[in-house]
Amino acid sequence: MAVFDLLNSARTRLGAKWCVVLLLLPEVAFGVFWFGARAAAVIGLAVAVCVVASVAPRVLAGEPYRFFNVGTLITGLLLGLTLSVDTPFYMIIFGGLVAEIAGKWAVPIVNRPLFNPAALGRAAIALLEVIEPPLIADTLSGASPLMVQAGGQPAPSFIYALLLGFTKGAIGETSAVILLICGYLMMRFVVVKRAAVFASIATTAILVTALPASAQVVGHAPWVMNPVVYLLGGSTLFFAFFFITEPLTTPASRLGGVVFGTGVAGVGVLGRLYTDIPGCEMWGVLLMNALTPRIDETVAVLRRAGKFSGFAKAAPRSFAMVTDFYADPPTEEAKEIPDDTHSQALNALHMGMERRPFSVLRETLKDRGPGDVASEVQVSRLAGCGGAHFPVAQKWSLIMDQAPERKRVLVVNGQEGETDSFKDRFLMGFAPQLVVEGASLAAFAIEASTVKIVIGPGMTAENEAMEEAIEDLGRQFSKLPFTVELVVGPGLYISGEESALISFLEGERGEPRKRPPFPAQSGVDGEPTLVHNVETVAWLPTLLKGGGRRFLERGPPKLVSVSGDVLRPNVFVVSAATTVEEAVALGGGFSGAGAVQAFAIGGPSGGFLPASAGSLRLCETDLREAGAGLGSGSLRVIGERSCLLTEFGKTIDFLSRQSCGRCAPCRVGSGVLGELCQRLRRGDGDEGCLTEIGEVATAMASASFCGLGQAAPRQLRSIERYWPNLLARHHGENGCERCRQAA
Ligand code: SF4
Repeated sequence: MAVFDLLNSARTRLGAKWCVVLLLLPEVAFGVFWFGARAAAVIGLAVAVCVVASVAPRVLAGEPYRFFNVGTLITGLLLGLTLSVDTPFYMIIFGGLVAEIAGKWAVPIVNRPLFNPAALGRAAIALLEVIEPPLIADTLSGASPLMVQAGGQPAPSFIYALLLGFTKGAIGETSAVILLICGYLMMRFVVVKRAAVFASIATTAILVTALPASAQVVGHAPWVMNPVVYLLGGSTLFFAFFFITEPLTTPASRLGGVVFGTGVAGVGVLGRLYTDIPGCEMWGVLLMNALTPRIDETVAVLRRAGKFSGFAKAAPRSFAMVTDFYADPPTEEAKEIPDDTHSQALNALHMGMERRPFSVLRETLKDRGPGDVASEVQVSRLAGCGGAHFPVAQKWSLIMDQAPERKRVLVVNGQEGETDSFKDRFLMGFAPQLVVEGASLAAFAIEASTVKIVIGPGMTAENEAMEEAIEDLGRQFSKLPFTVELVVGPGLYISGEESALISFLEGERGEPRKRPPFPAQSGVDGEPTLVHNVETVAWLPTLLKGGGRRFLERGPPKLVSVSGDVLRPNVFVVSAATTVEEAVALGGGFSGAGAVQAFAIGGPSGGFLPASAGSLRLCETDLREAGAGLGSGSLRVIGERSCLLTEFGKTIDFLSRQSCGRCAPCRVGSGVLGELCQRLRRGDGDEGCLTEIGEVATAMASASFCGLGQAAPRQLRSIERYWPNLLARHHGENGCERCRQAA
């Protein structure tokens, strides 16, 4: 649907955090409308205190800082929305400081904050309220004048009450309808912890209908006497949608999410019904936050024992089916991937090394220094696997040139926003510990203090696997000199560009920045930053185990995503000596009708090569000379029934959607190029159309600001080189037969 497409596009462009901010703003607006200016002051103060608490330590330390950190904004908004208008300002200041300082402190054992920051700040305020008791009954109970007047029933008008005032308590709990709409959008477009949300709401429904009311509710929260009102009440929905979906402090697995949501709702309902403790759902959140590491551990044990397989992560049988949206529906044979295909790739990836997770990291931390790791990498000639193929050792030396007292940041990009490529997803889903171990080795080598692994928004199973691996790292190493966190990125193609990814991590719009300064000089929050692709770091354990020399002699190895018209699309390990034909054979050989027409190599920024290029080696030098490029390592086989102009049309439409819009040659040019291709394919093109295509392509390649726009016409150029009559054929007398058949 167009609306959902629009929302999806907004979601991917803005990122999850800004979407949460947008979904909190209606609650702010309704709260201010219902309660007046004092509500605006409460929320504004909560946000301001959180911002100051986040910035002040950096200002005092003379470090670079930014006022607009989206995470801080969310904490401030959530804190303000859970307060009543009568909360004294000194309490808000105290709560804000606790939320931002204590709430964001990474607990060493789990390497991340233990509690939801806003819930922690709210708890601090609740403790102050115990010292000042009159506030408890009047401001925190959620006692609604509407409910009191109506003797505990929603009134005076059902619709009015539904919109404004089912539960007049905290500022953000004013309207059930708005909470339901925003909650639905959160579930649909932003969060992946749906199991926790459903469990929380279902548990609330069951408990409030099954349990008897108690005298405790009188004067505390009259609305809890009505199950429907309770279920649609602000606290139930607000906590379900905004507090138990926060990724860092909630369980990684679906089963864990169910336990978490049930626990939060259980504490909330029992507390509301039988005690006069304020904000019981909040205490439920904190209790379950504290239990989260135990829940995760228990789920991991159950999984290993083969229990609860229904909740185990759903590993896609074929990555091509998930990510290669260019491919036609896969054939029955393609769906039947032998189970050992992945193990073969993993075996090759490990190159016979011991499978004990983190063993290389343990040995390295014990016996080697950062310089030893860098020397092995230098010998191995490992190059970045994200598409630029920049030598890793050189990249490390740039960051090591920065002043040692500056905090270094390692960013590992696993969003894989480009078409045809699914090897990073493969790694994070099937070898997450290898990725985390590799990232830790890189962090050790460059003496980083922070590691941020960025994953794509739709990678639910991989997200769970990576979270488990990060927790495993925390359990196995109590004192690491760096923290590791998982961040859900926008998943866009452009957000794979280093500076765009850094912008996103700083809470900005993810668009490329001018260089210098280079990320190694000034990256995330002004700190020296190294950006690696997931595959790049995943090779490090293997490389260090066998030594740089052996790694080099083995290829060096590289993962390639093989898809399109092949029998078994999948991820395979190749070396620089593997030919295109050999890689296709790994995928079970050509499976389309007729013969191979072309190979699309290197994704949207690569090119098309003719069938005769099958003997070329899969190395950057050979492929560049032929007019393509390995990119991040994708190879799609195109049969002769497809029209290559149609294939290019899909690419340019994709790039047009992904363009950040910063510069006109790319923003306008990609749209115009897509439109001109459409005209040709419809048979409406002429000579002028061909000339215009050439001019726009040249302008894009020469004047675009970043690689996305510059490389966009590459497939077109390879068509002109290897199929010189193809464009002209489209405006000839009979047009293109393949396009006609496809239409
Ligand atoms: Fe954005 Fe320009 Fe890069 Fe296109 S070429 S993605 S508009 S910066």
